[in-house]
Amino acid sequence: MNSASVARITRVAIVTGAAQGIGLAIALELYSEGFDVVLSDLKAKEGKLNSVTSQIYDTQDDQEDGRGQGGKRVGRLLAITADVSVEDEVKGLIDKVVAELGGVDVMVANAGISLLKPLEEVTTPEWDKMMAVNVRGTFLCYKYAAEQMIKQGRGGRILGACSIAGKKGMPEVAAYCTSKFAIRGLTQSAALEWGKYGITVNAYAPGPIDTDFLAQFDEYFTNKSGAPKGSWSESLKQTTSTGTLGTPQDVANLVSYLVSRGAKFVTGQSINVDGGGVFD
Ligand code: NAD
Repeated sequence: MNSASVARITRVAIVTGAAQGIGLAIALELYSEGFDVVLSDLKAKEGKLNSVTSQIYDTQDDQEDGRGQGGKRVGRLLAITADVSVEDEVKGLIDKVVAELGGVDVMVANAGISLLKPLEEVTTPEWDKMMAVNVRGTFLCYKYAAEQMIKQGRGGRILGACSIAGKKGMPEVAAYCTSKFAIRGLTQSAALEWGKYGITVNAYAPGPIDTDFLAQFDEYFTNKSGAPKGSWSESLKQTTSTGTLGTPQDVANLVSYLVSRGAKFVTGQSINVDGGGVFD
């Protein structure tokens, strides 16, 4: 049995920004549910990606028939680098996944960057970079995944990374907020266009999730105020109904539902996973 025929019985998921944090948790969750999973991130994160794939799964065990040692069916786990802001790289990512795994059923356009600065100090190159990664990157992932899914004719699931910063403006986070508001517009419009192909398009909108990303916010705001490191993140607990920060797994659990067959009537939504901080 070649890899293309294995993919016909196993759904294939791509997760961008998967070397760490939320993307990594989503990739591992989908893998544990039996998906073939492609972890993608920047070339600079290749070592991290490879260490995840080699720790979890030795591809040598699975070259022929998708069965690991002991005959138990395991999904395939691949690392493929791509910068989501570069069109040829996203197109190349989809082409490689189709060649290796036979198709694409789930695209999780998770990669994102932040920018913390008073708005009047944000430079045009900084603004453009934010939009290139967070907005163009998500657009390219949606577009090339959908193109492939439409060609396959078996529907699919597309997900983007929004944020509560995509629901509500925040001081000194304007470029990032703008990019996350854009994800909602893109997600709603894509859902309207691709519903007829059996493709749902949704976004997750996390609140404060305990990752390196949140640590950057803490660093910035505590440097400014002189408050002890960690105190800004700690204070965010009071902004949630649960009194806690979220974990990457909390986001992965929502994604697990959204990619399930049972979620076929949920589309165009940007769903908060924020411990009850923002209600919309
Ligand atoms: P993170 O910074 O820990 O990880 C982001 C990953 O994206 C990194 O591995 C990075 O290398 C990768 N990446 C950056 N630019 C890329 C590019 N051009 N091409 C490919 N990969 C690229 O962040 P995280 O906390 O895991 O967040 C993941 C997503 O969730 C982001 O889109 C973020 O905006 C969103 N989000 C996070 C939080 C939070 O509190 N952590 C809250 C709301 C939304």
